[in-house]
Amino acid sequence: MADSCLFCKIARREIPATLVAETEDCIAFRDINPQAPVHVLIVPRTHVPSLNEATDAAMIGRLSLMAAEIAKREGIADRGYRTVLNTNAEAGQTVFHLHLHLLGGRPMTWPPG
Ligand code: AMP
Ligand code: ZN
Repeated sequence: MADSCLFCKIARREIPATLVAETEDCIAFRDINPQAPVHVLIVPRTHVPSLNEATDAAMIGRLSLMAAEIAKREGIADRGYRTVLNTNAEAGQTVFHLHLHLLGGRPMTWPPG
């Protein structure tokens, strides 16, 4: 599974992506189809299909902290931003390697679609 997984391939640098941040266990890159002026995906290097299979609380926490760090660097932290983690079909998950969306740079509506 990890062999053919798109985000595993990006994490291994086998497929190009616009990198925004990188640590030992996470990688962040710009979404190919941005839904906001800032749209970054924050991804663990370990292959976990969705939040349903996640067991590493520290790793889940690190994704959020990396989002906050990138939001500050991108200049949207004070204005506000949204982090989204889609899980399975009804939430619209299309890539089954867990990832946190960081969206910002425009006003967001609520409730989300
Ligand atoms: P989700 O719908 O939550 O599974 O999000 C998957 C996201 O991955 C979508 O926003 C896609 O635009 C994005 N995406 C798909 N392929 C790539 C790629 N090669 N590089 C960057 N982002 C991608
Ligand atoms: Zn993967």
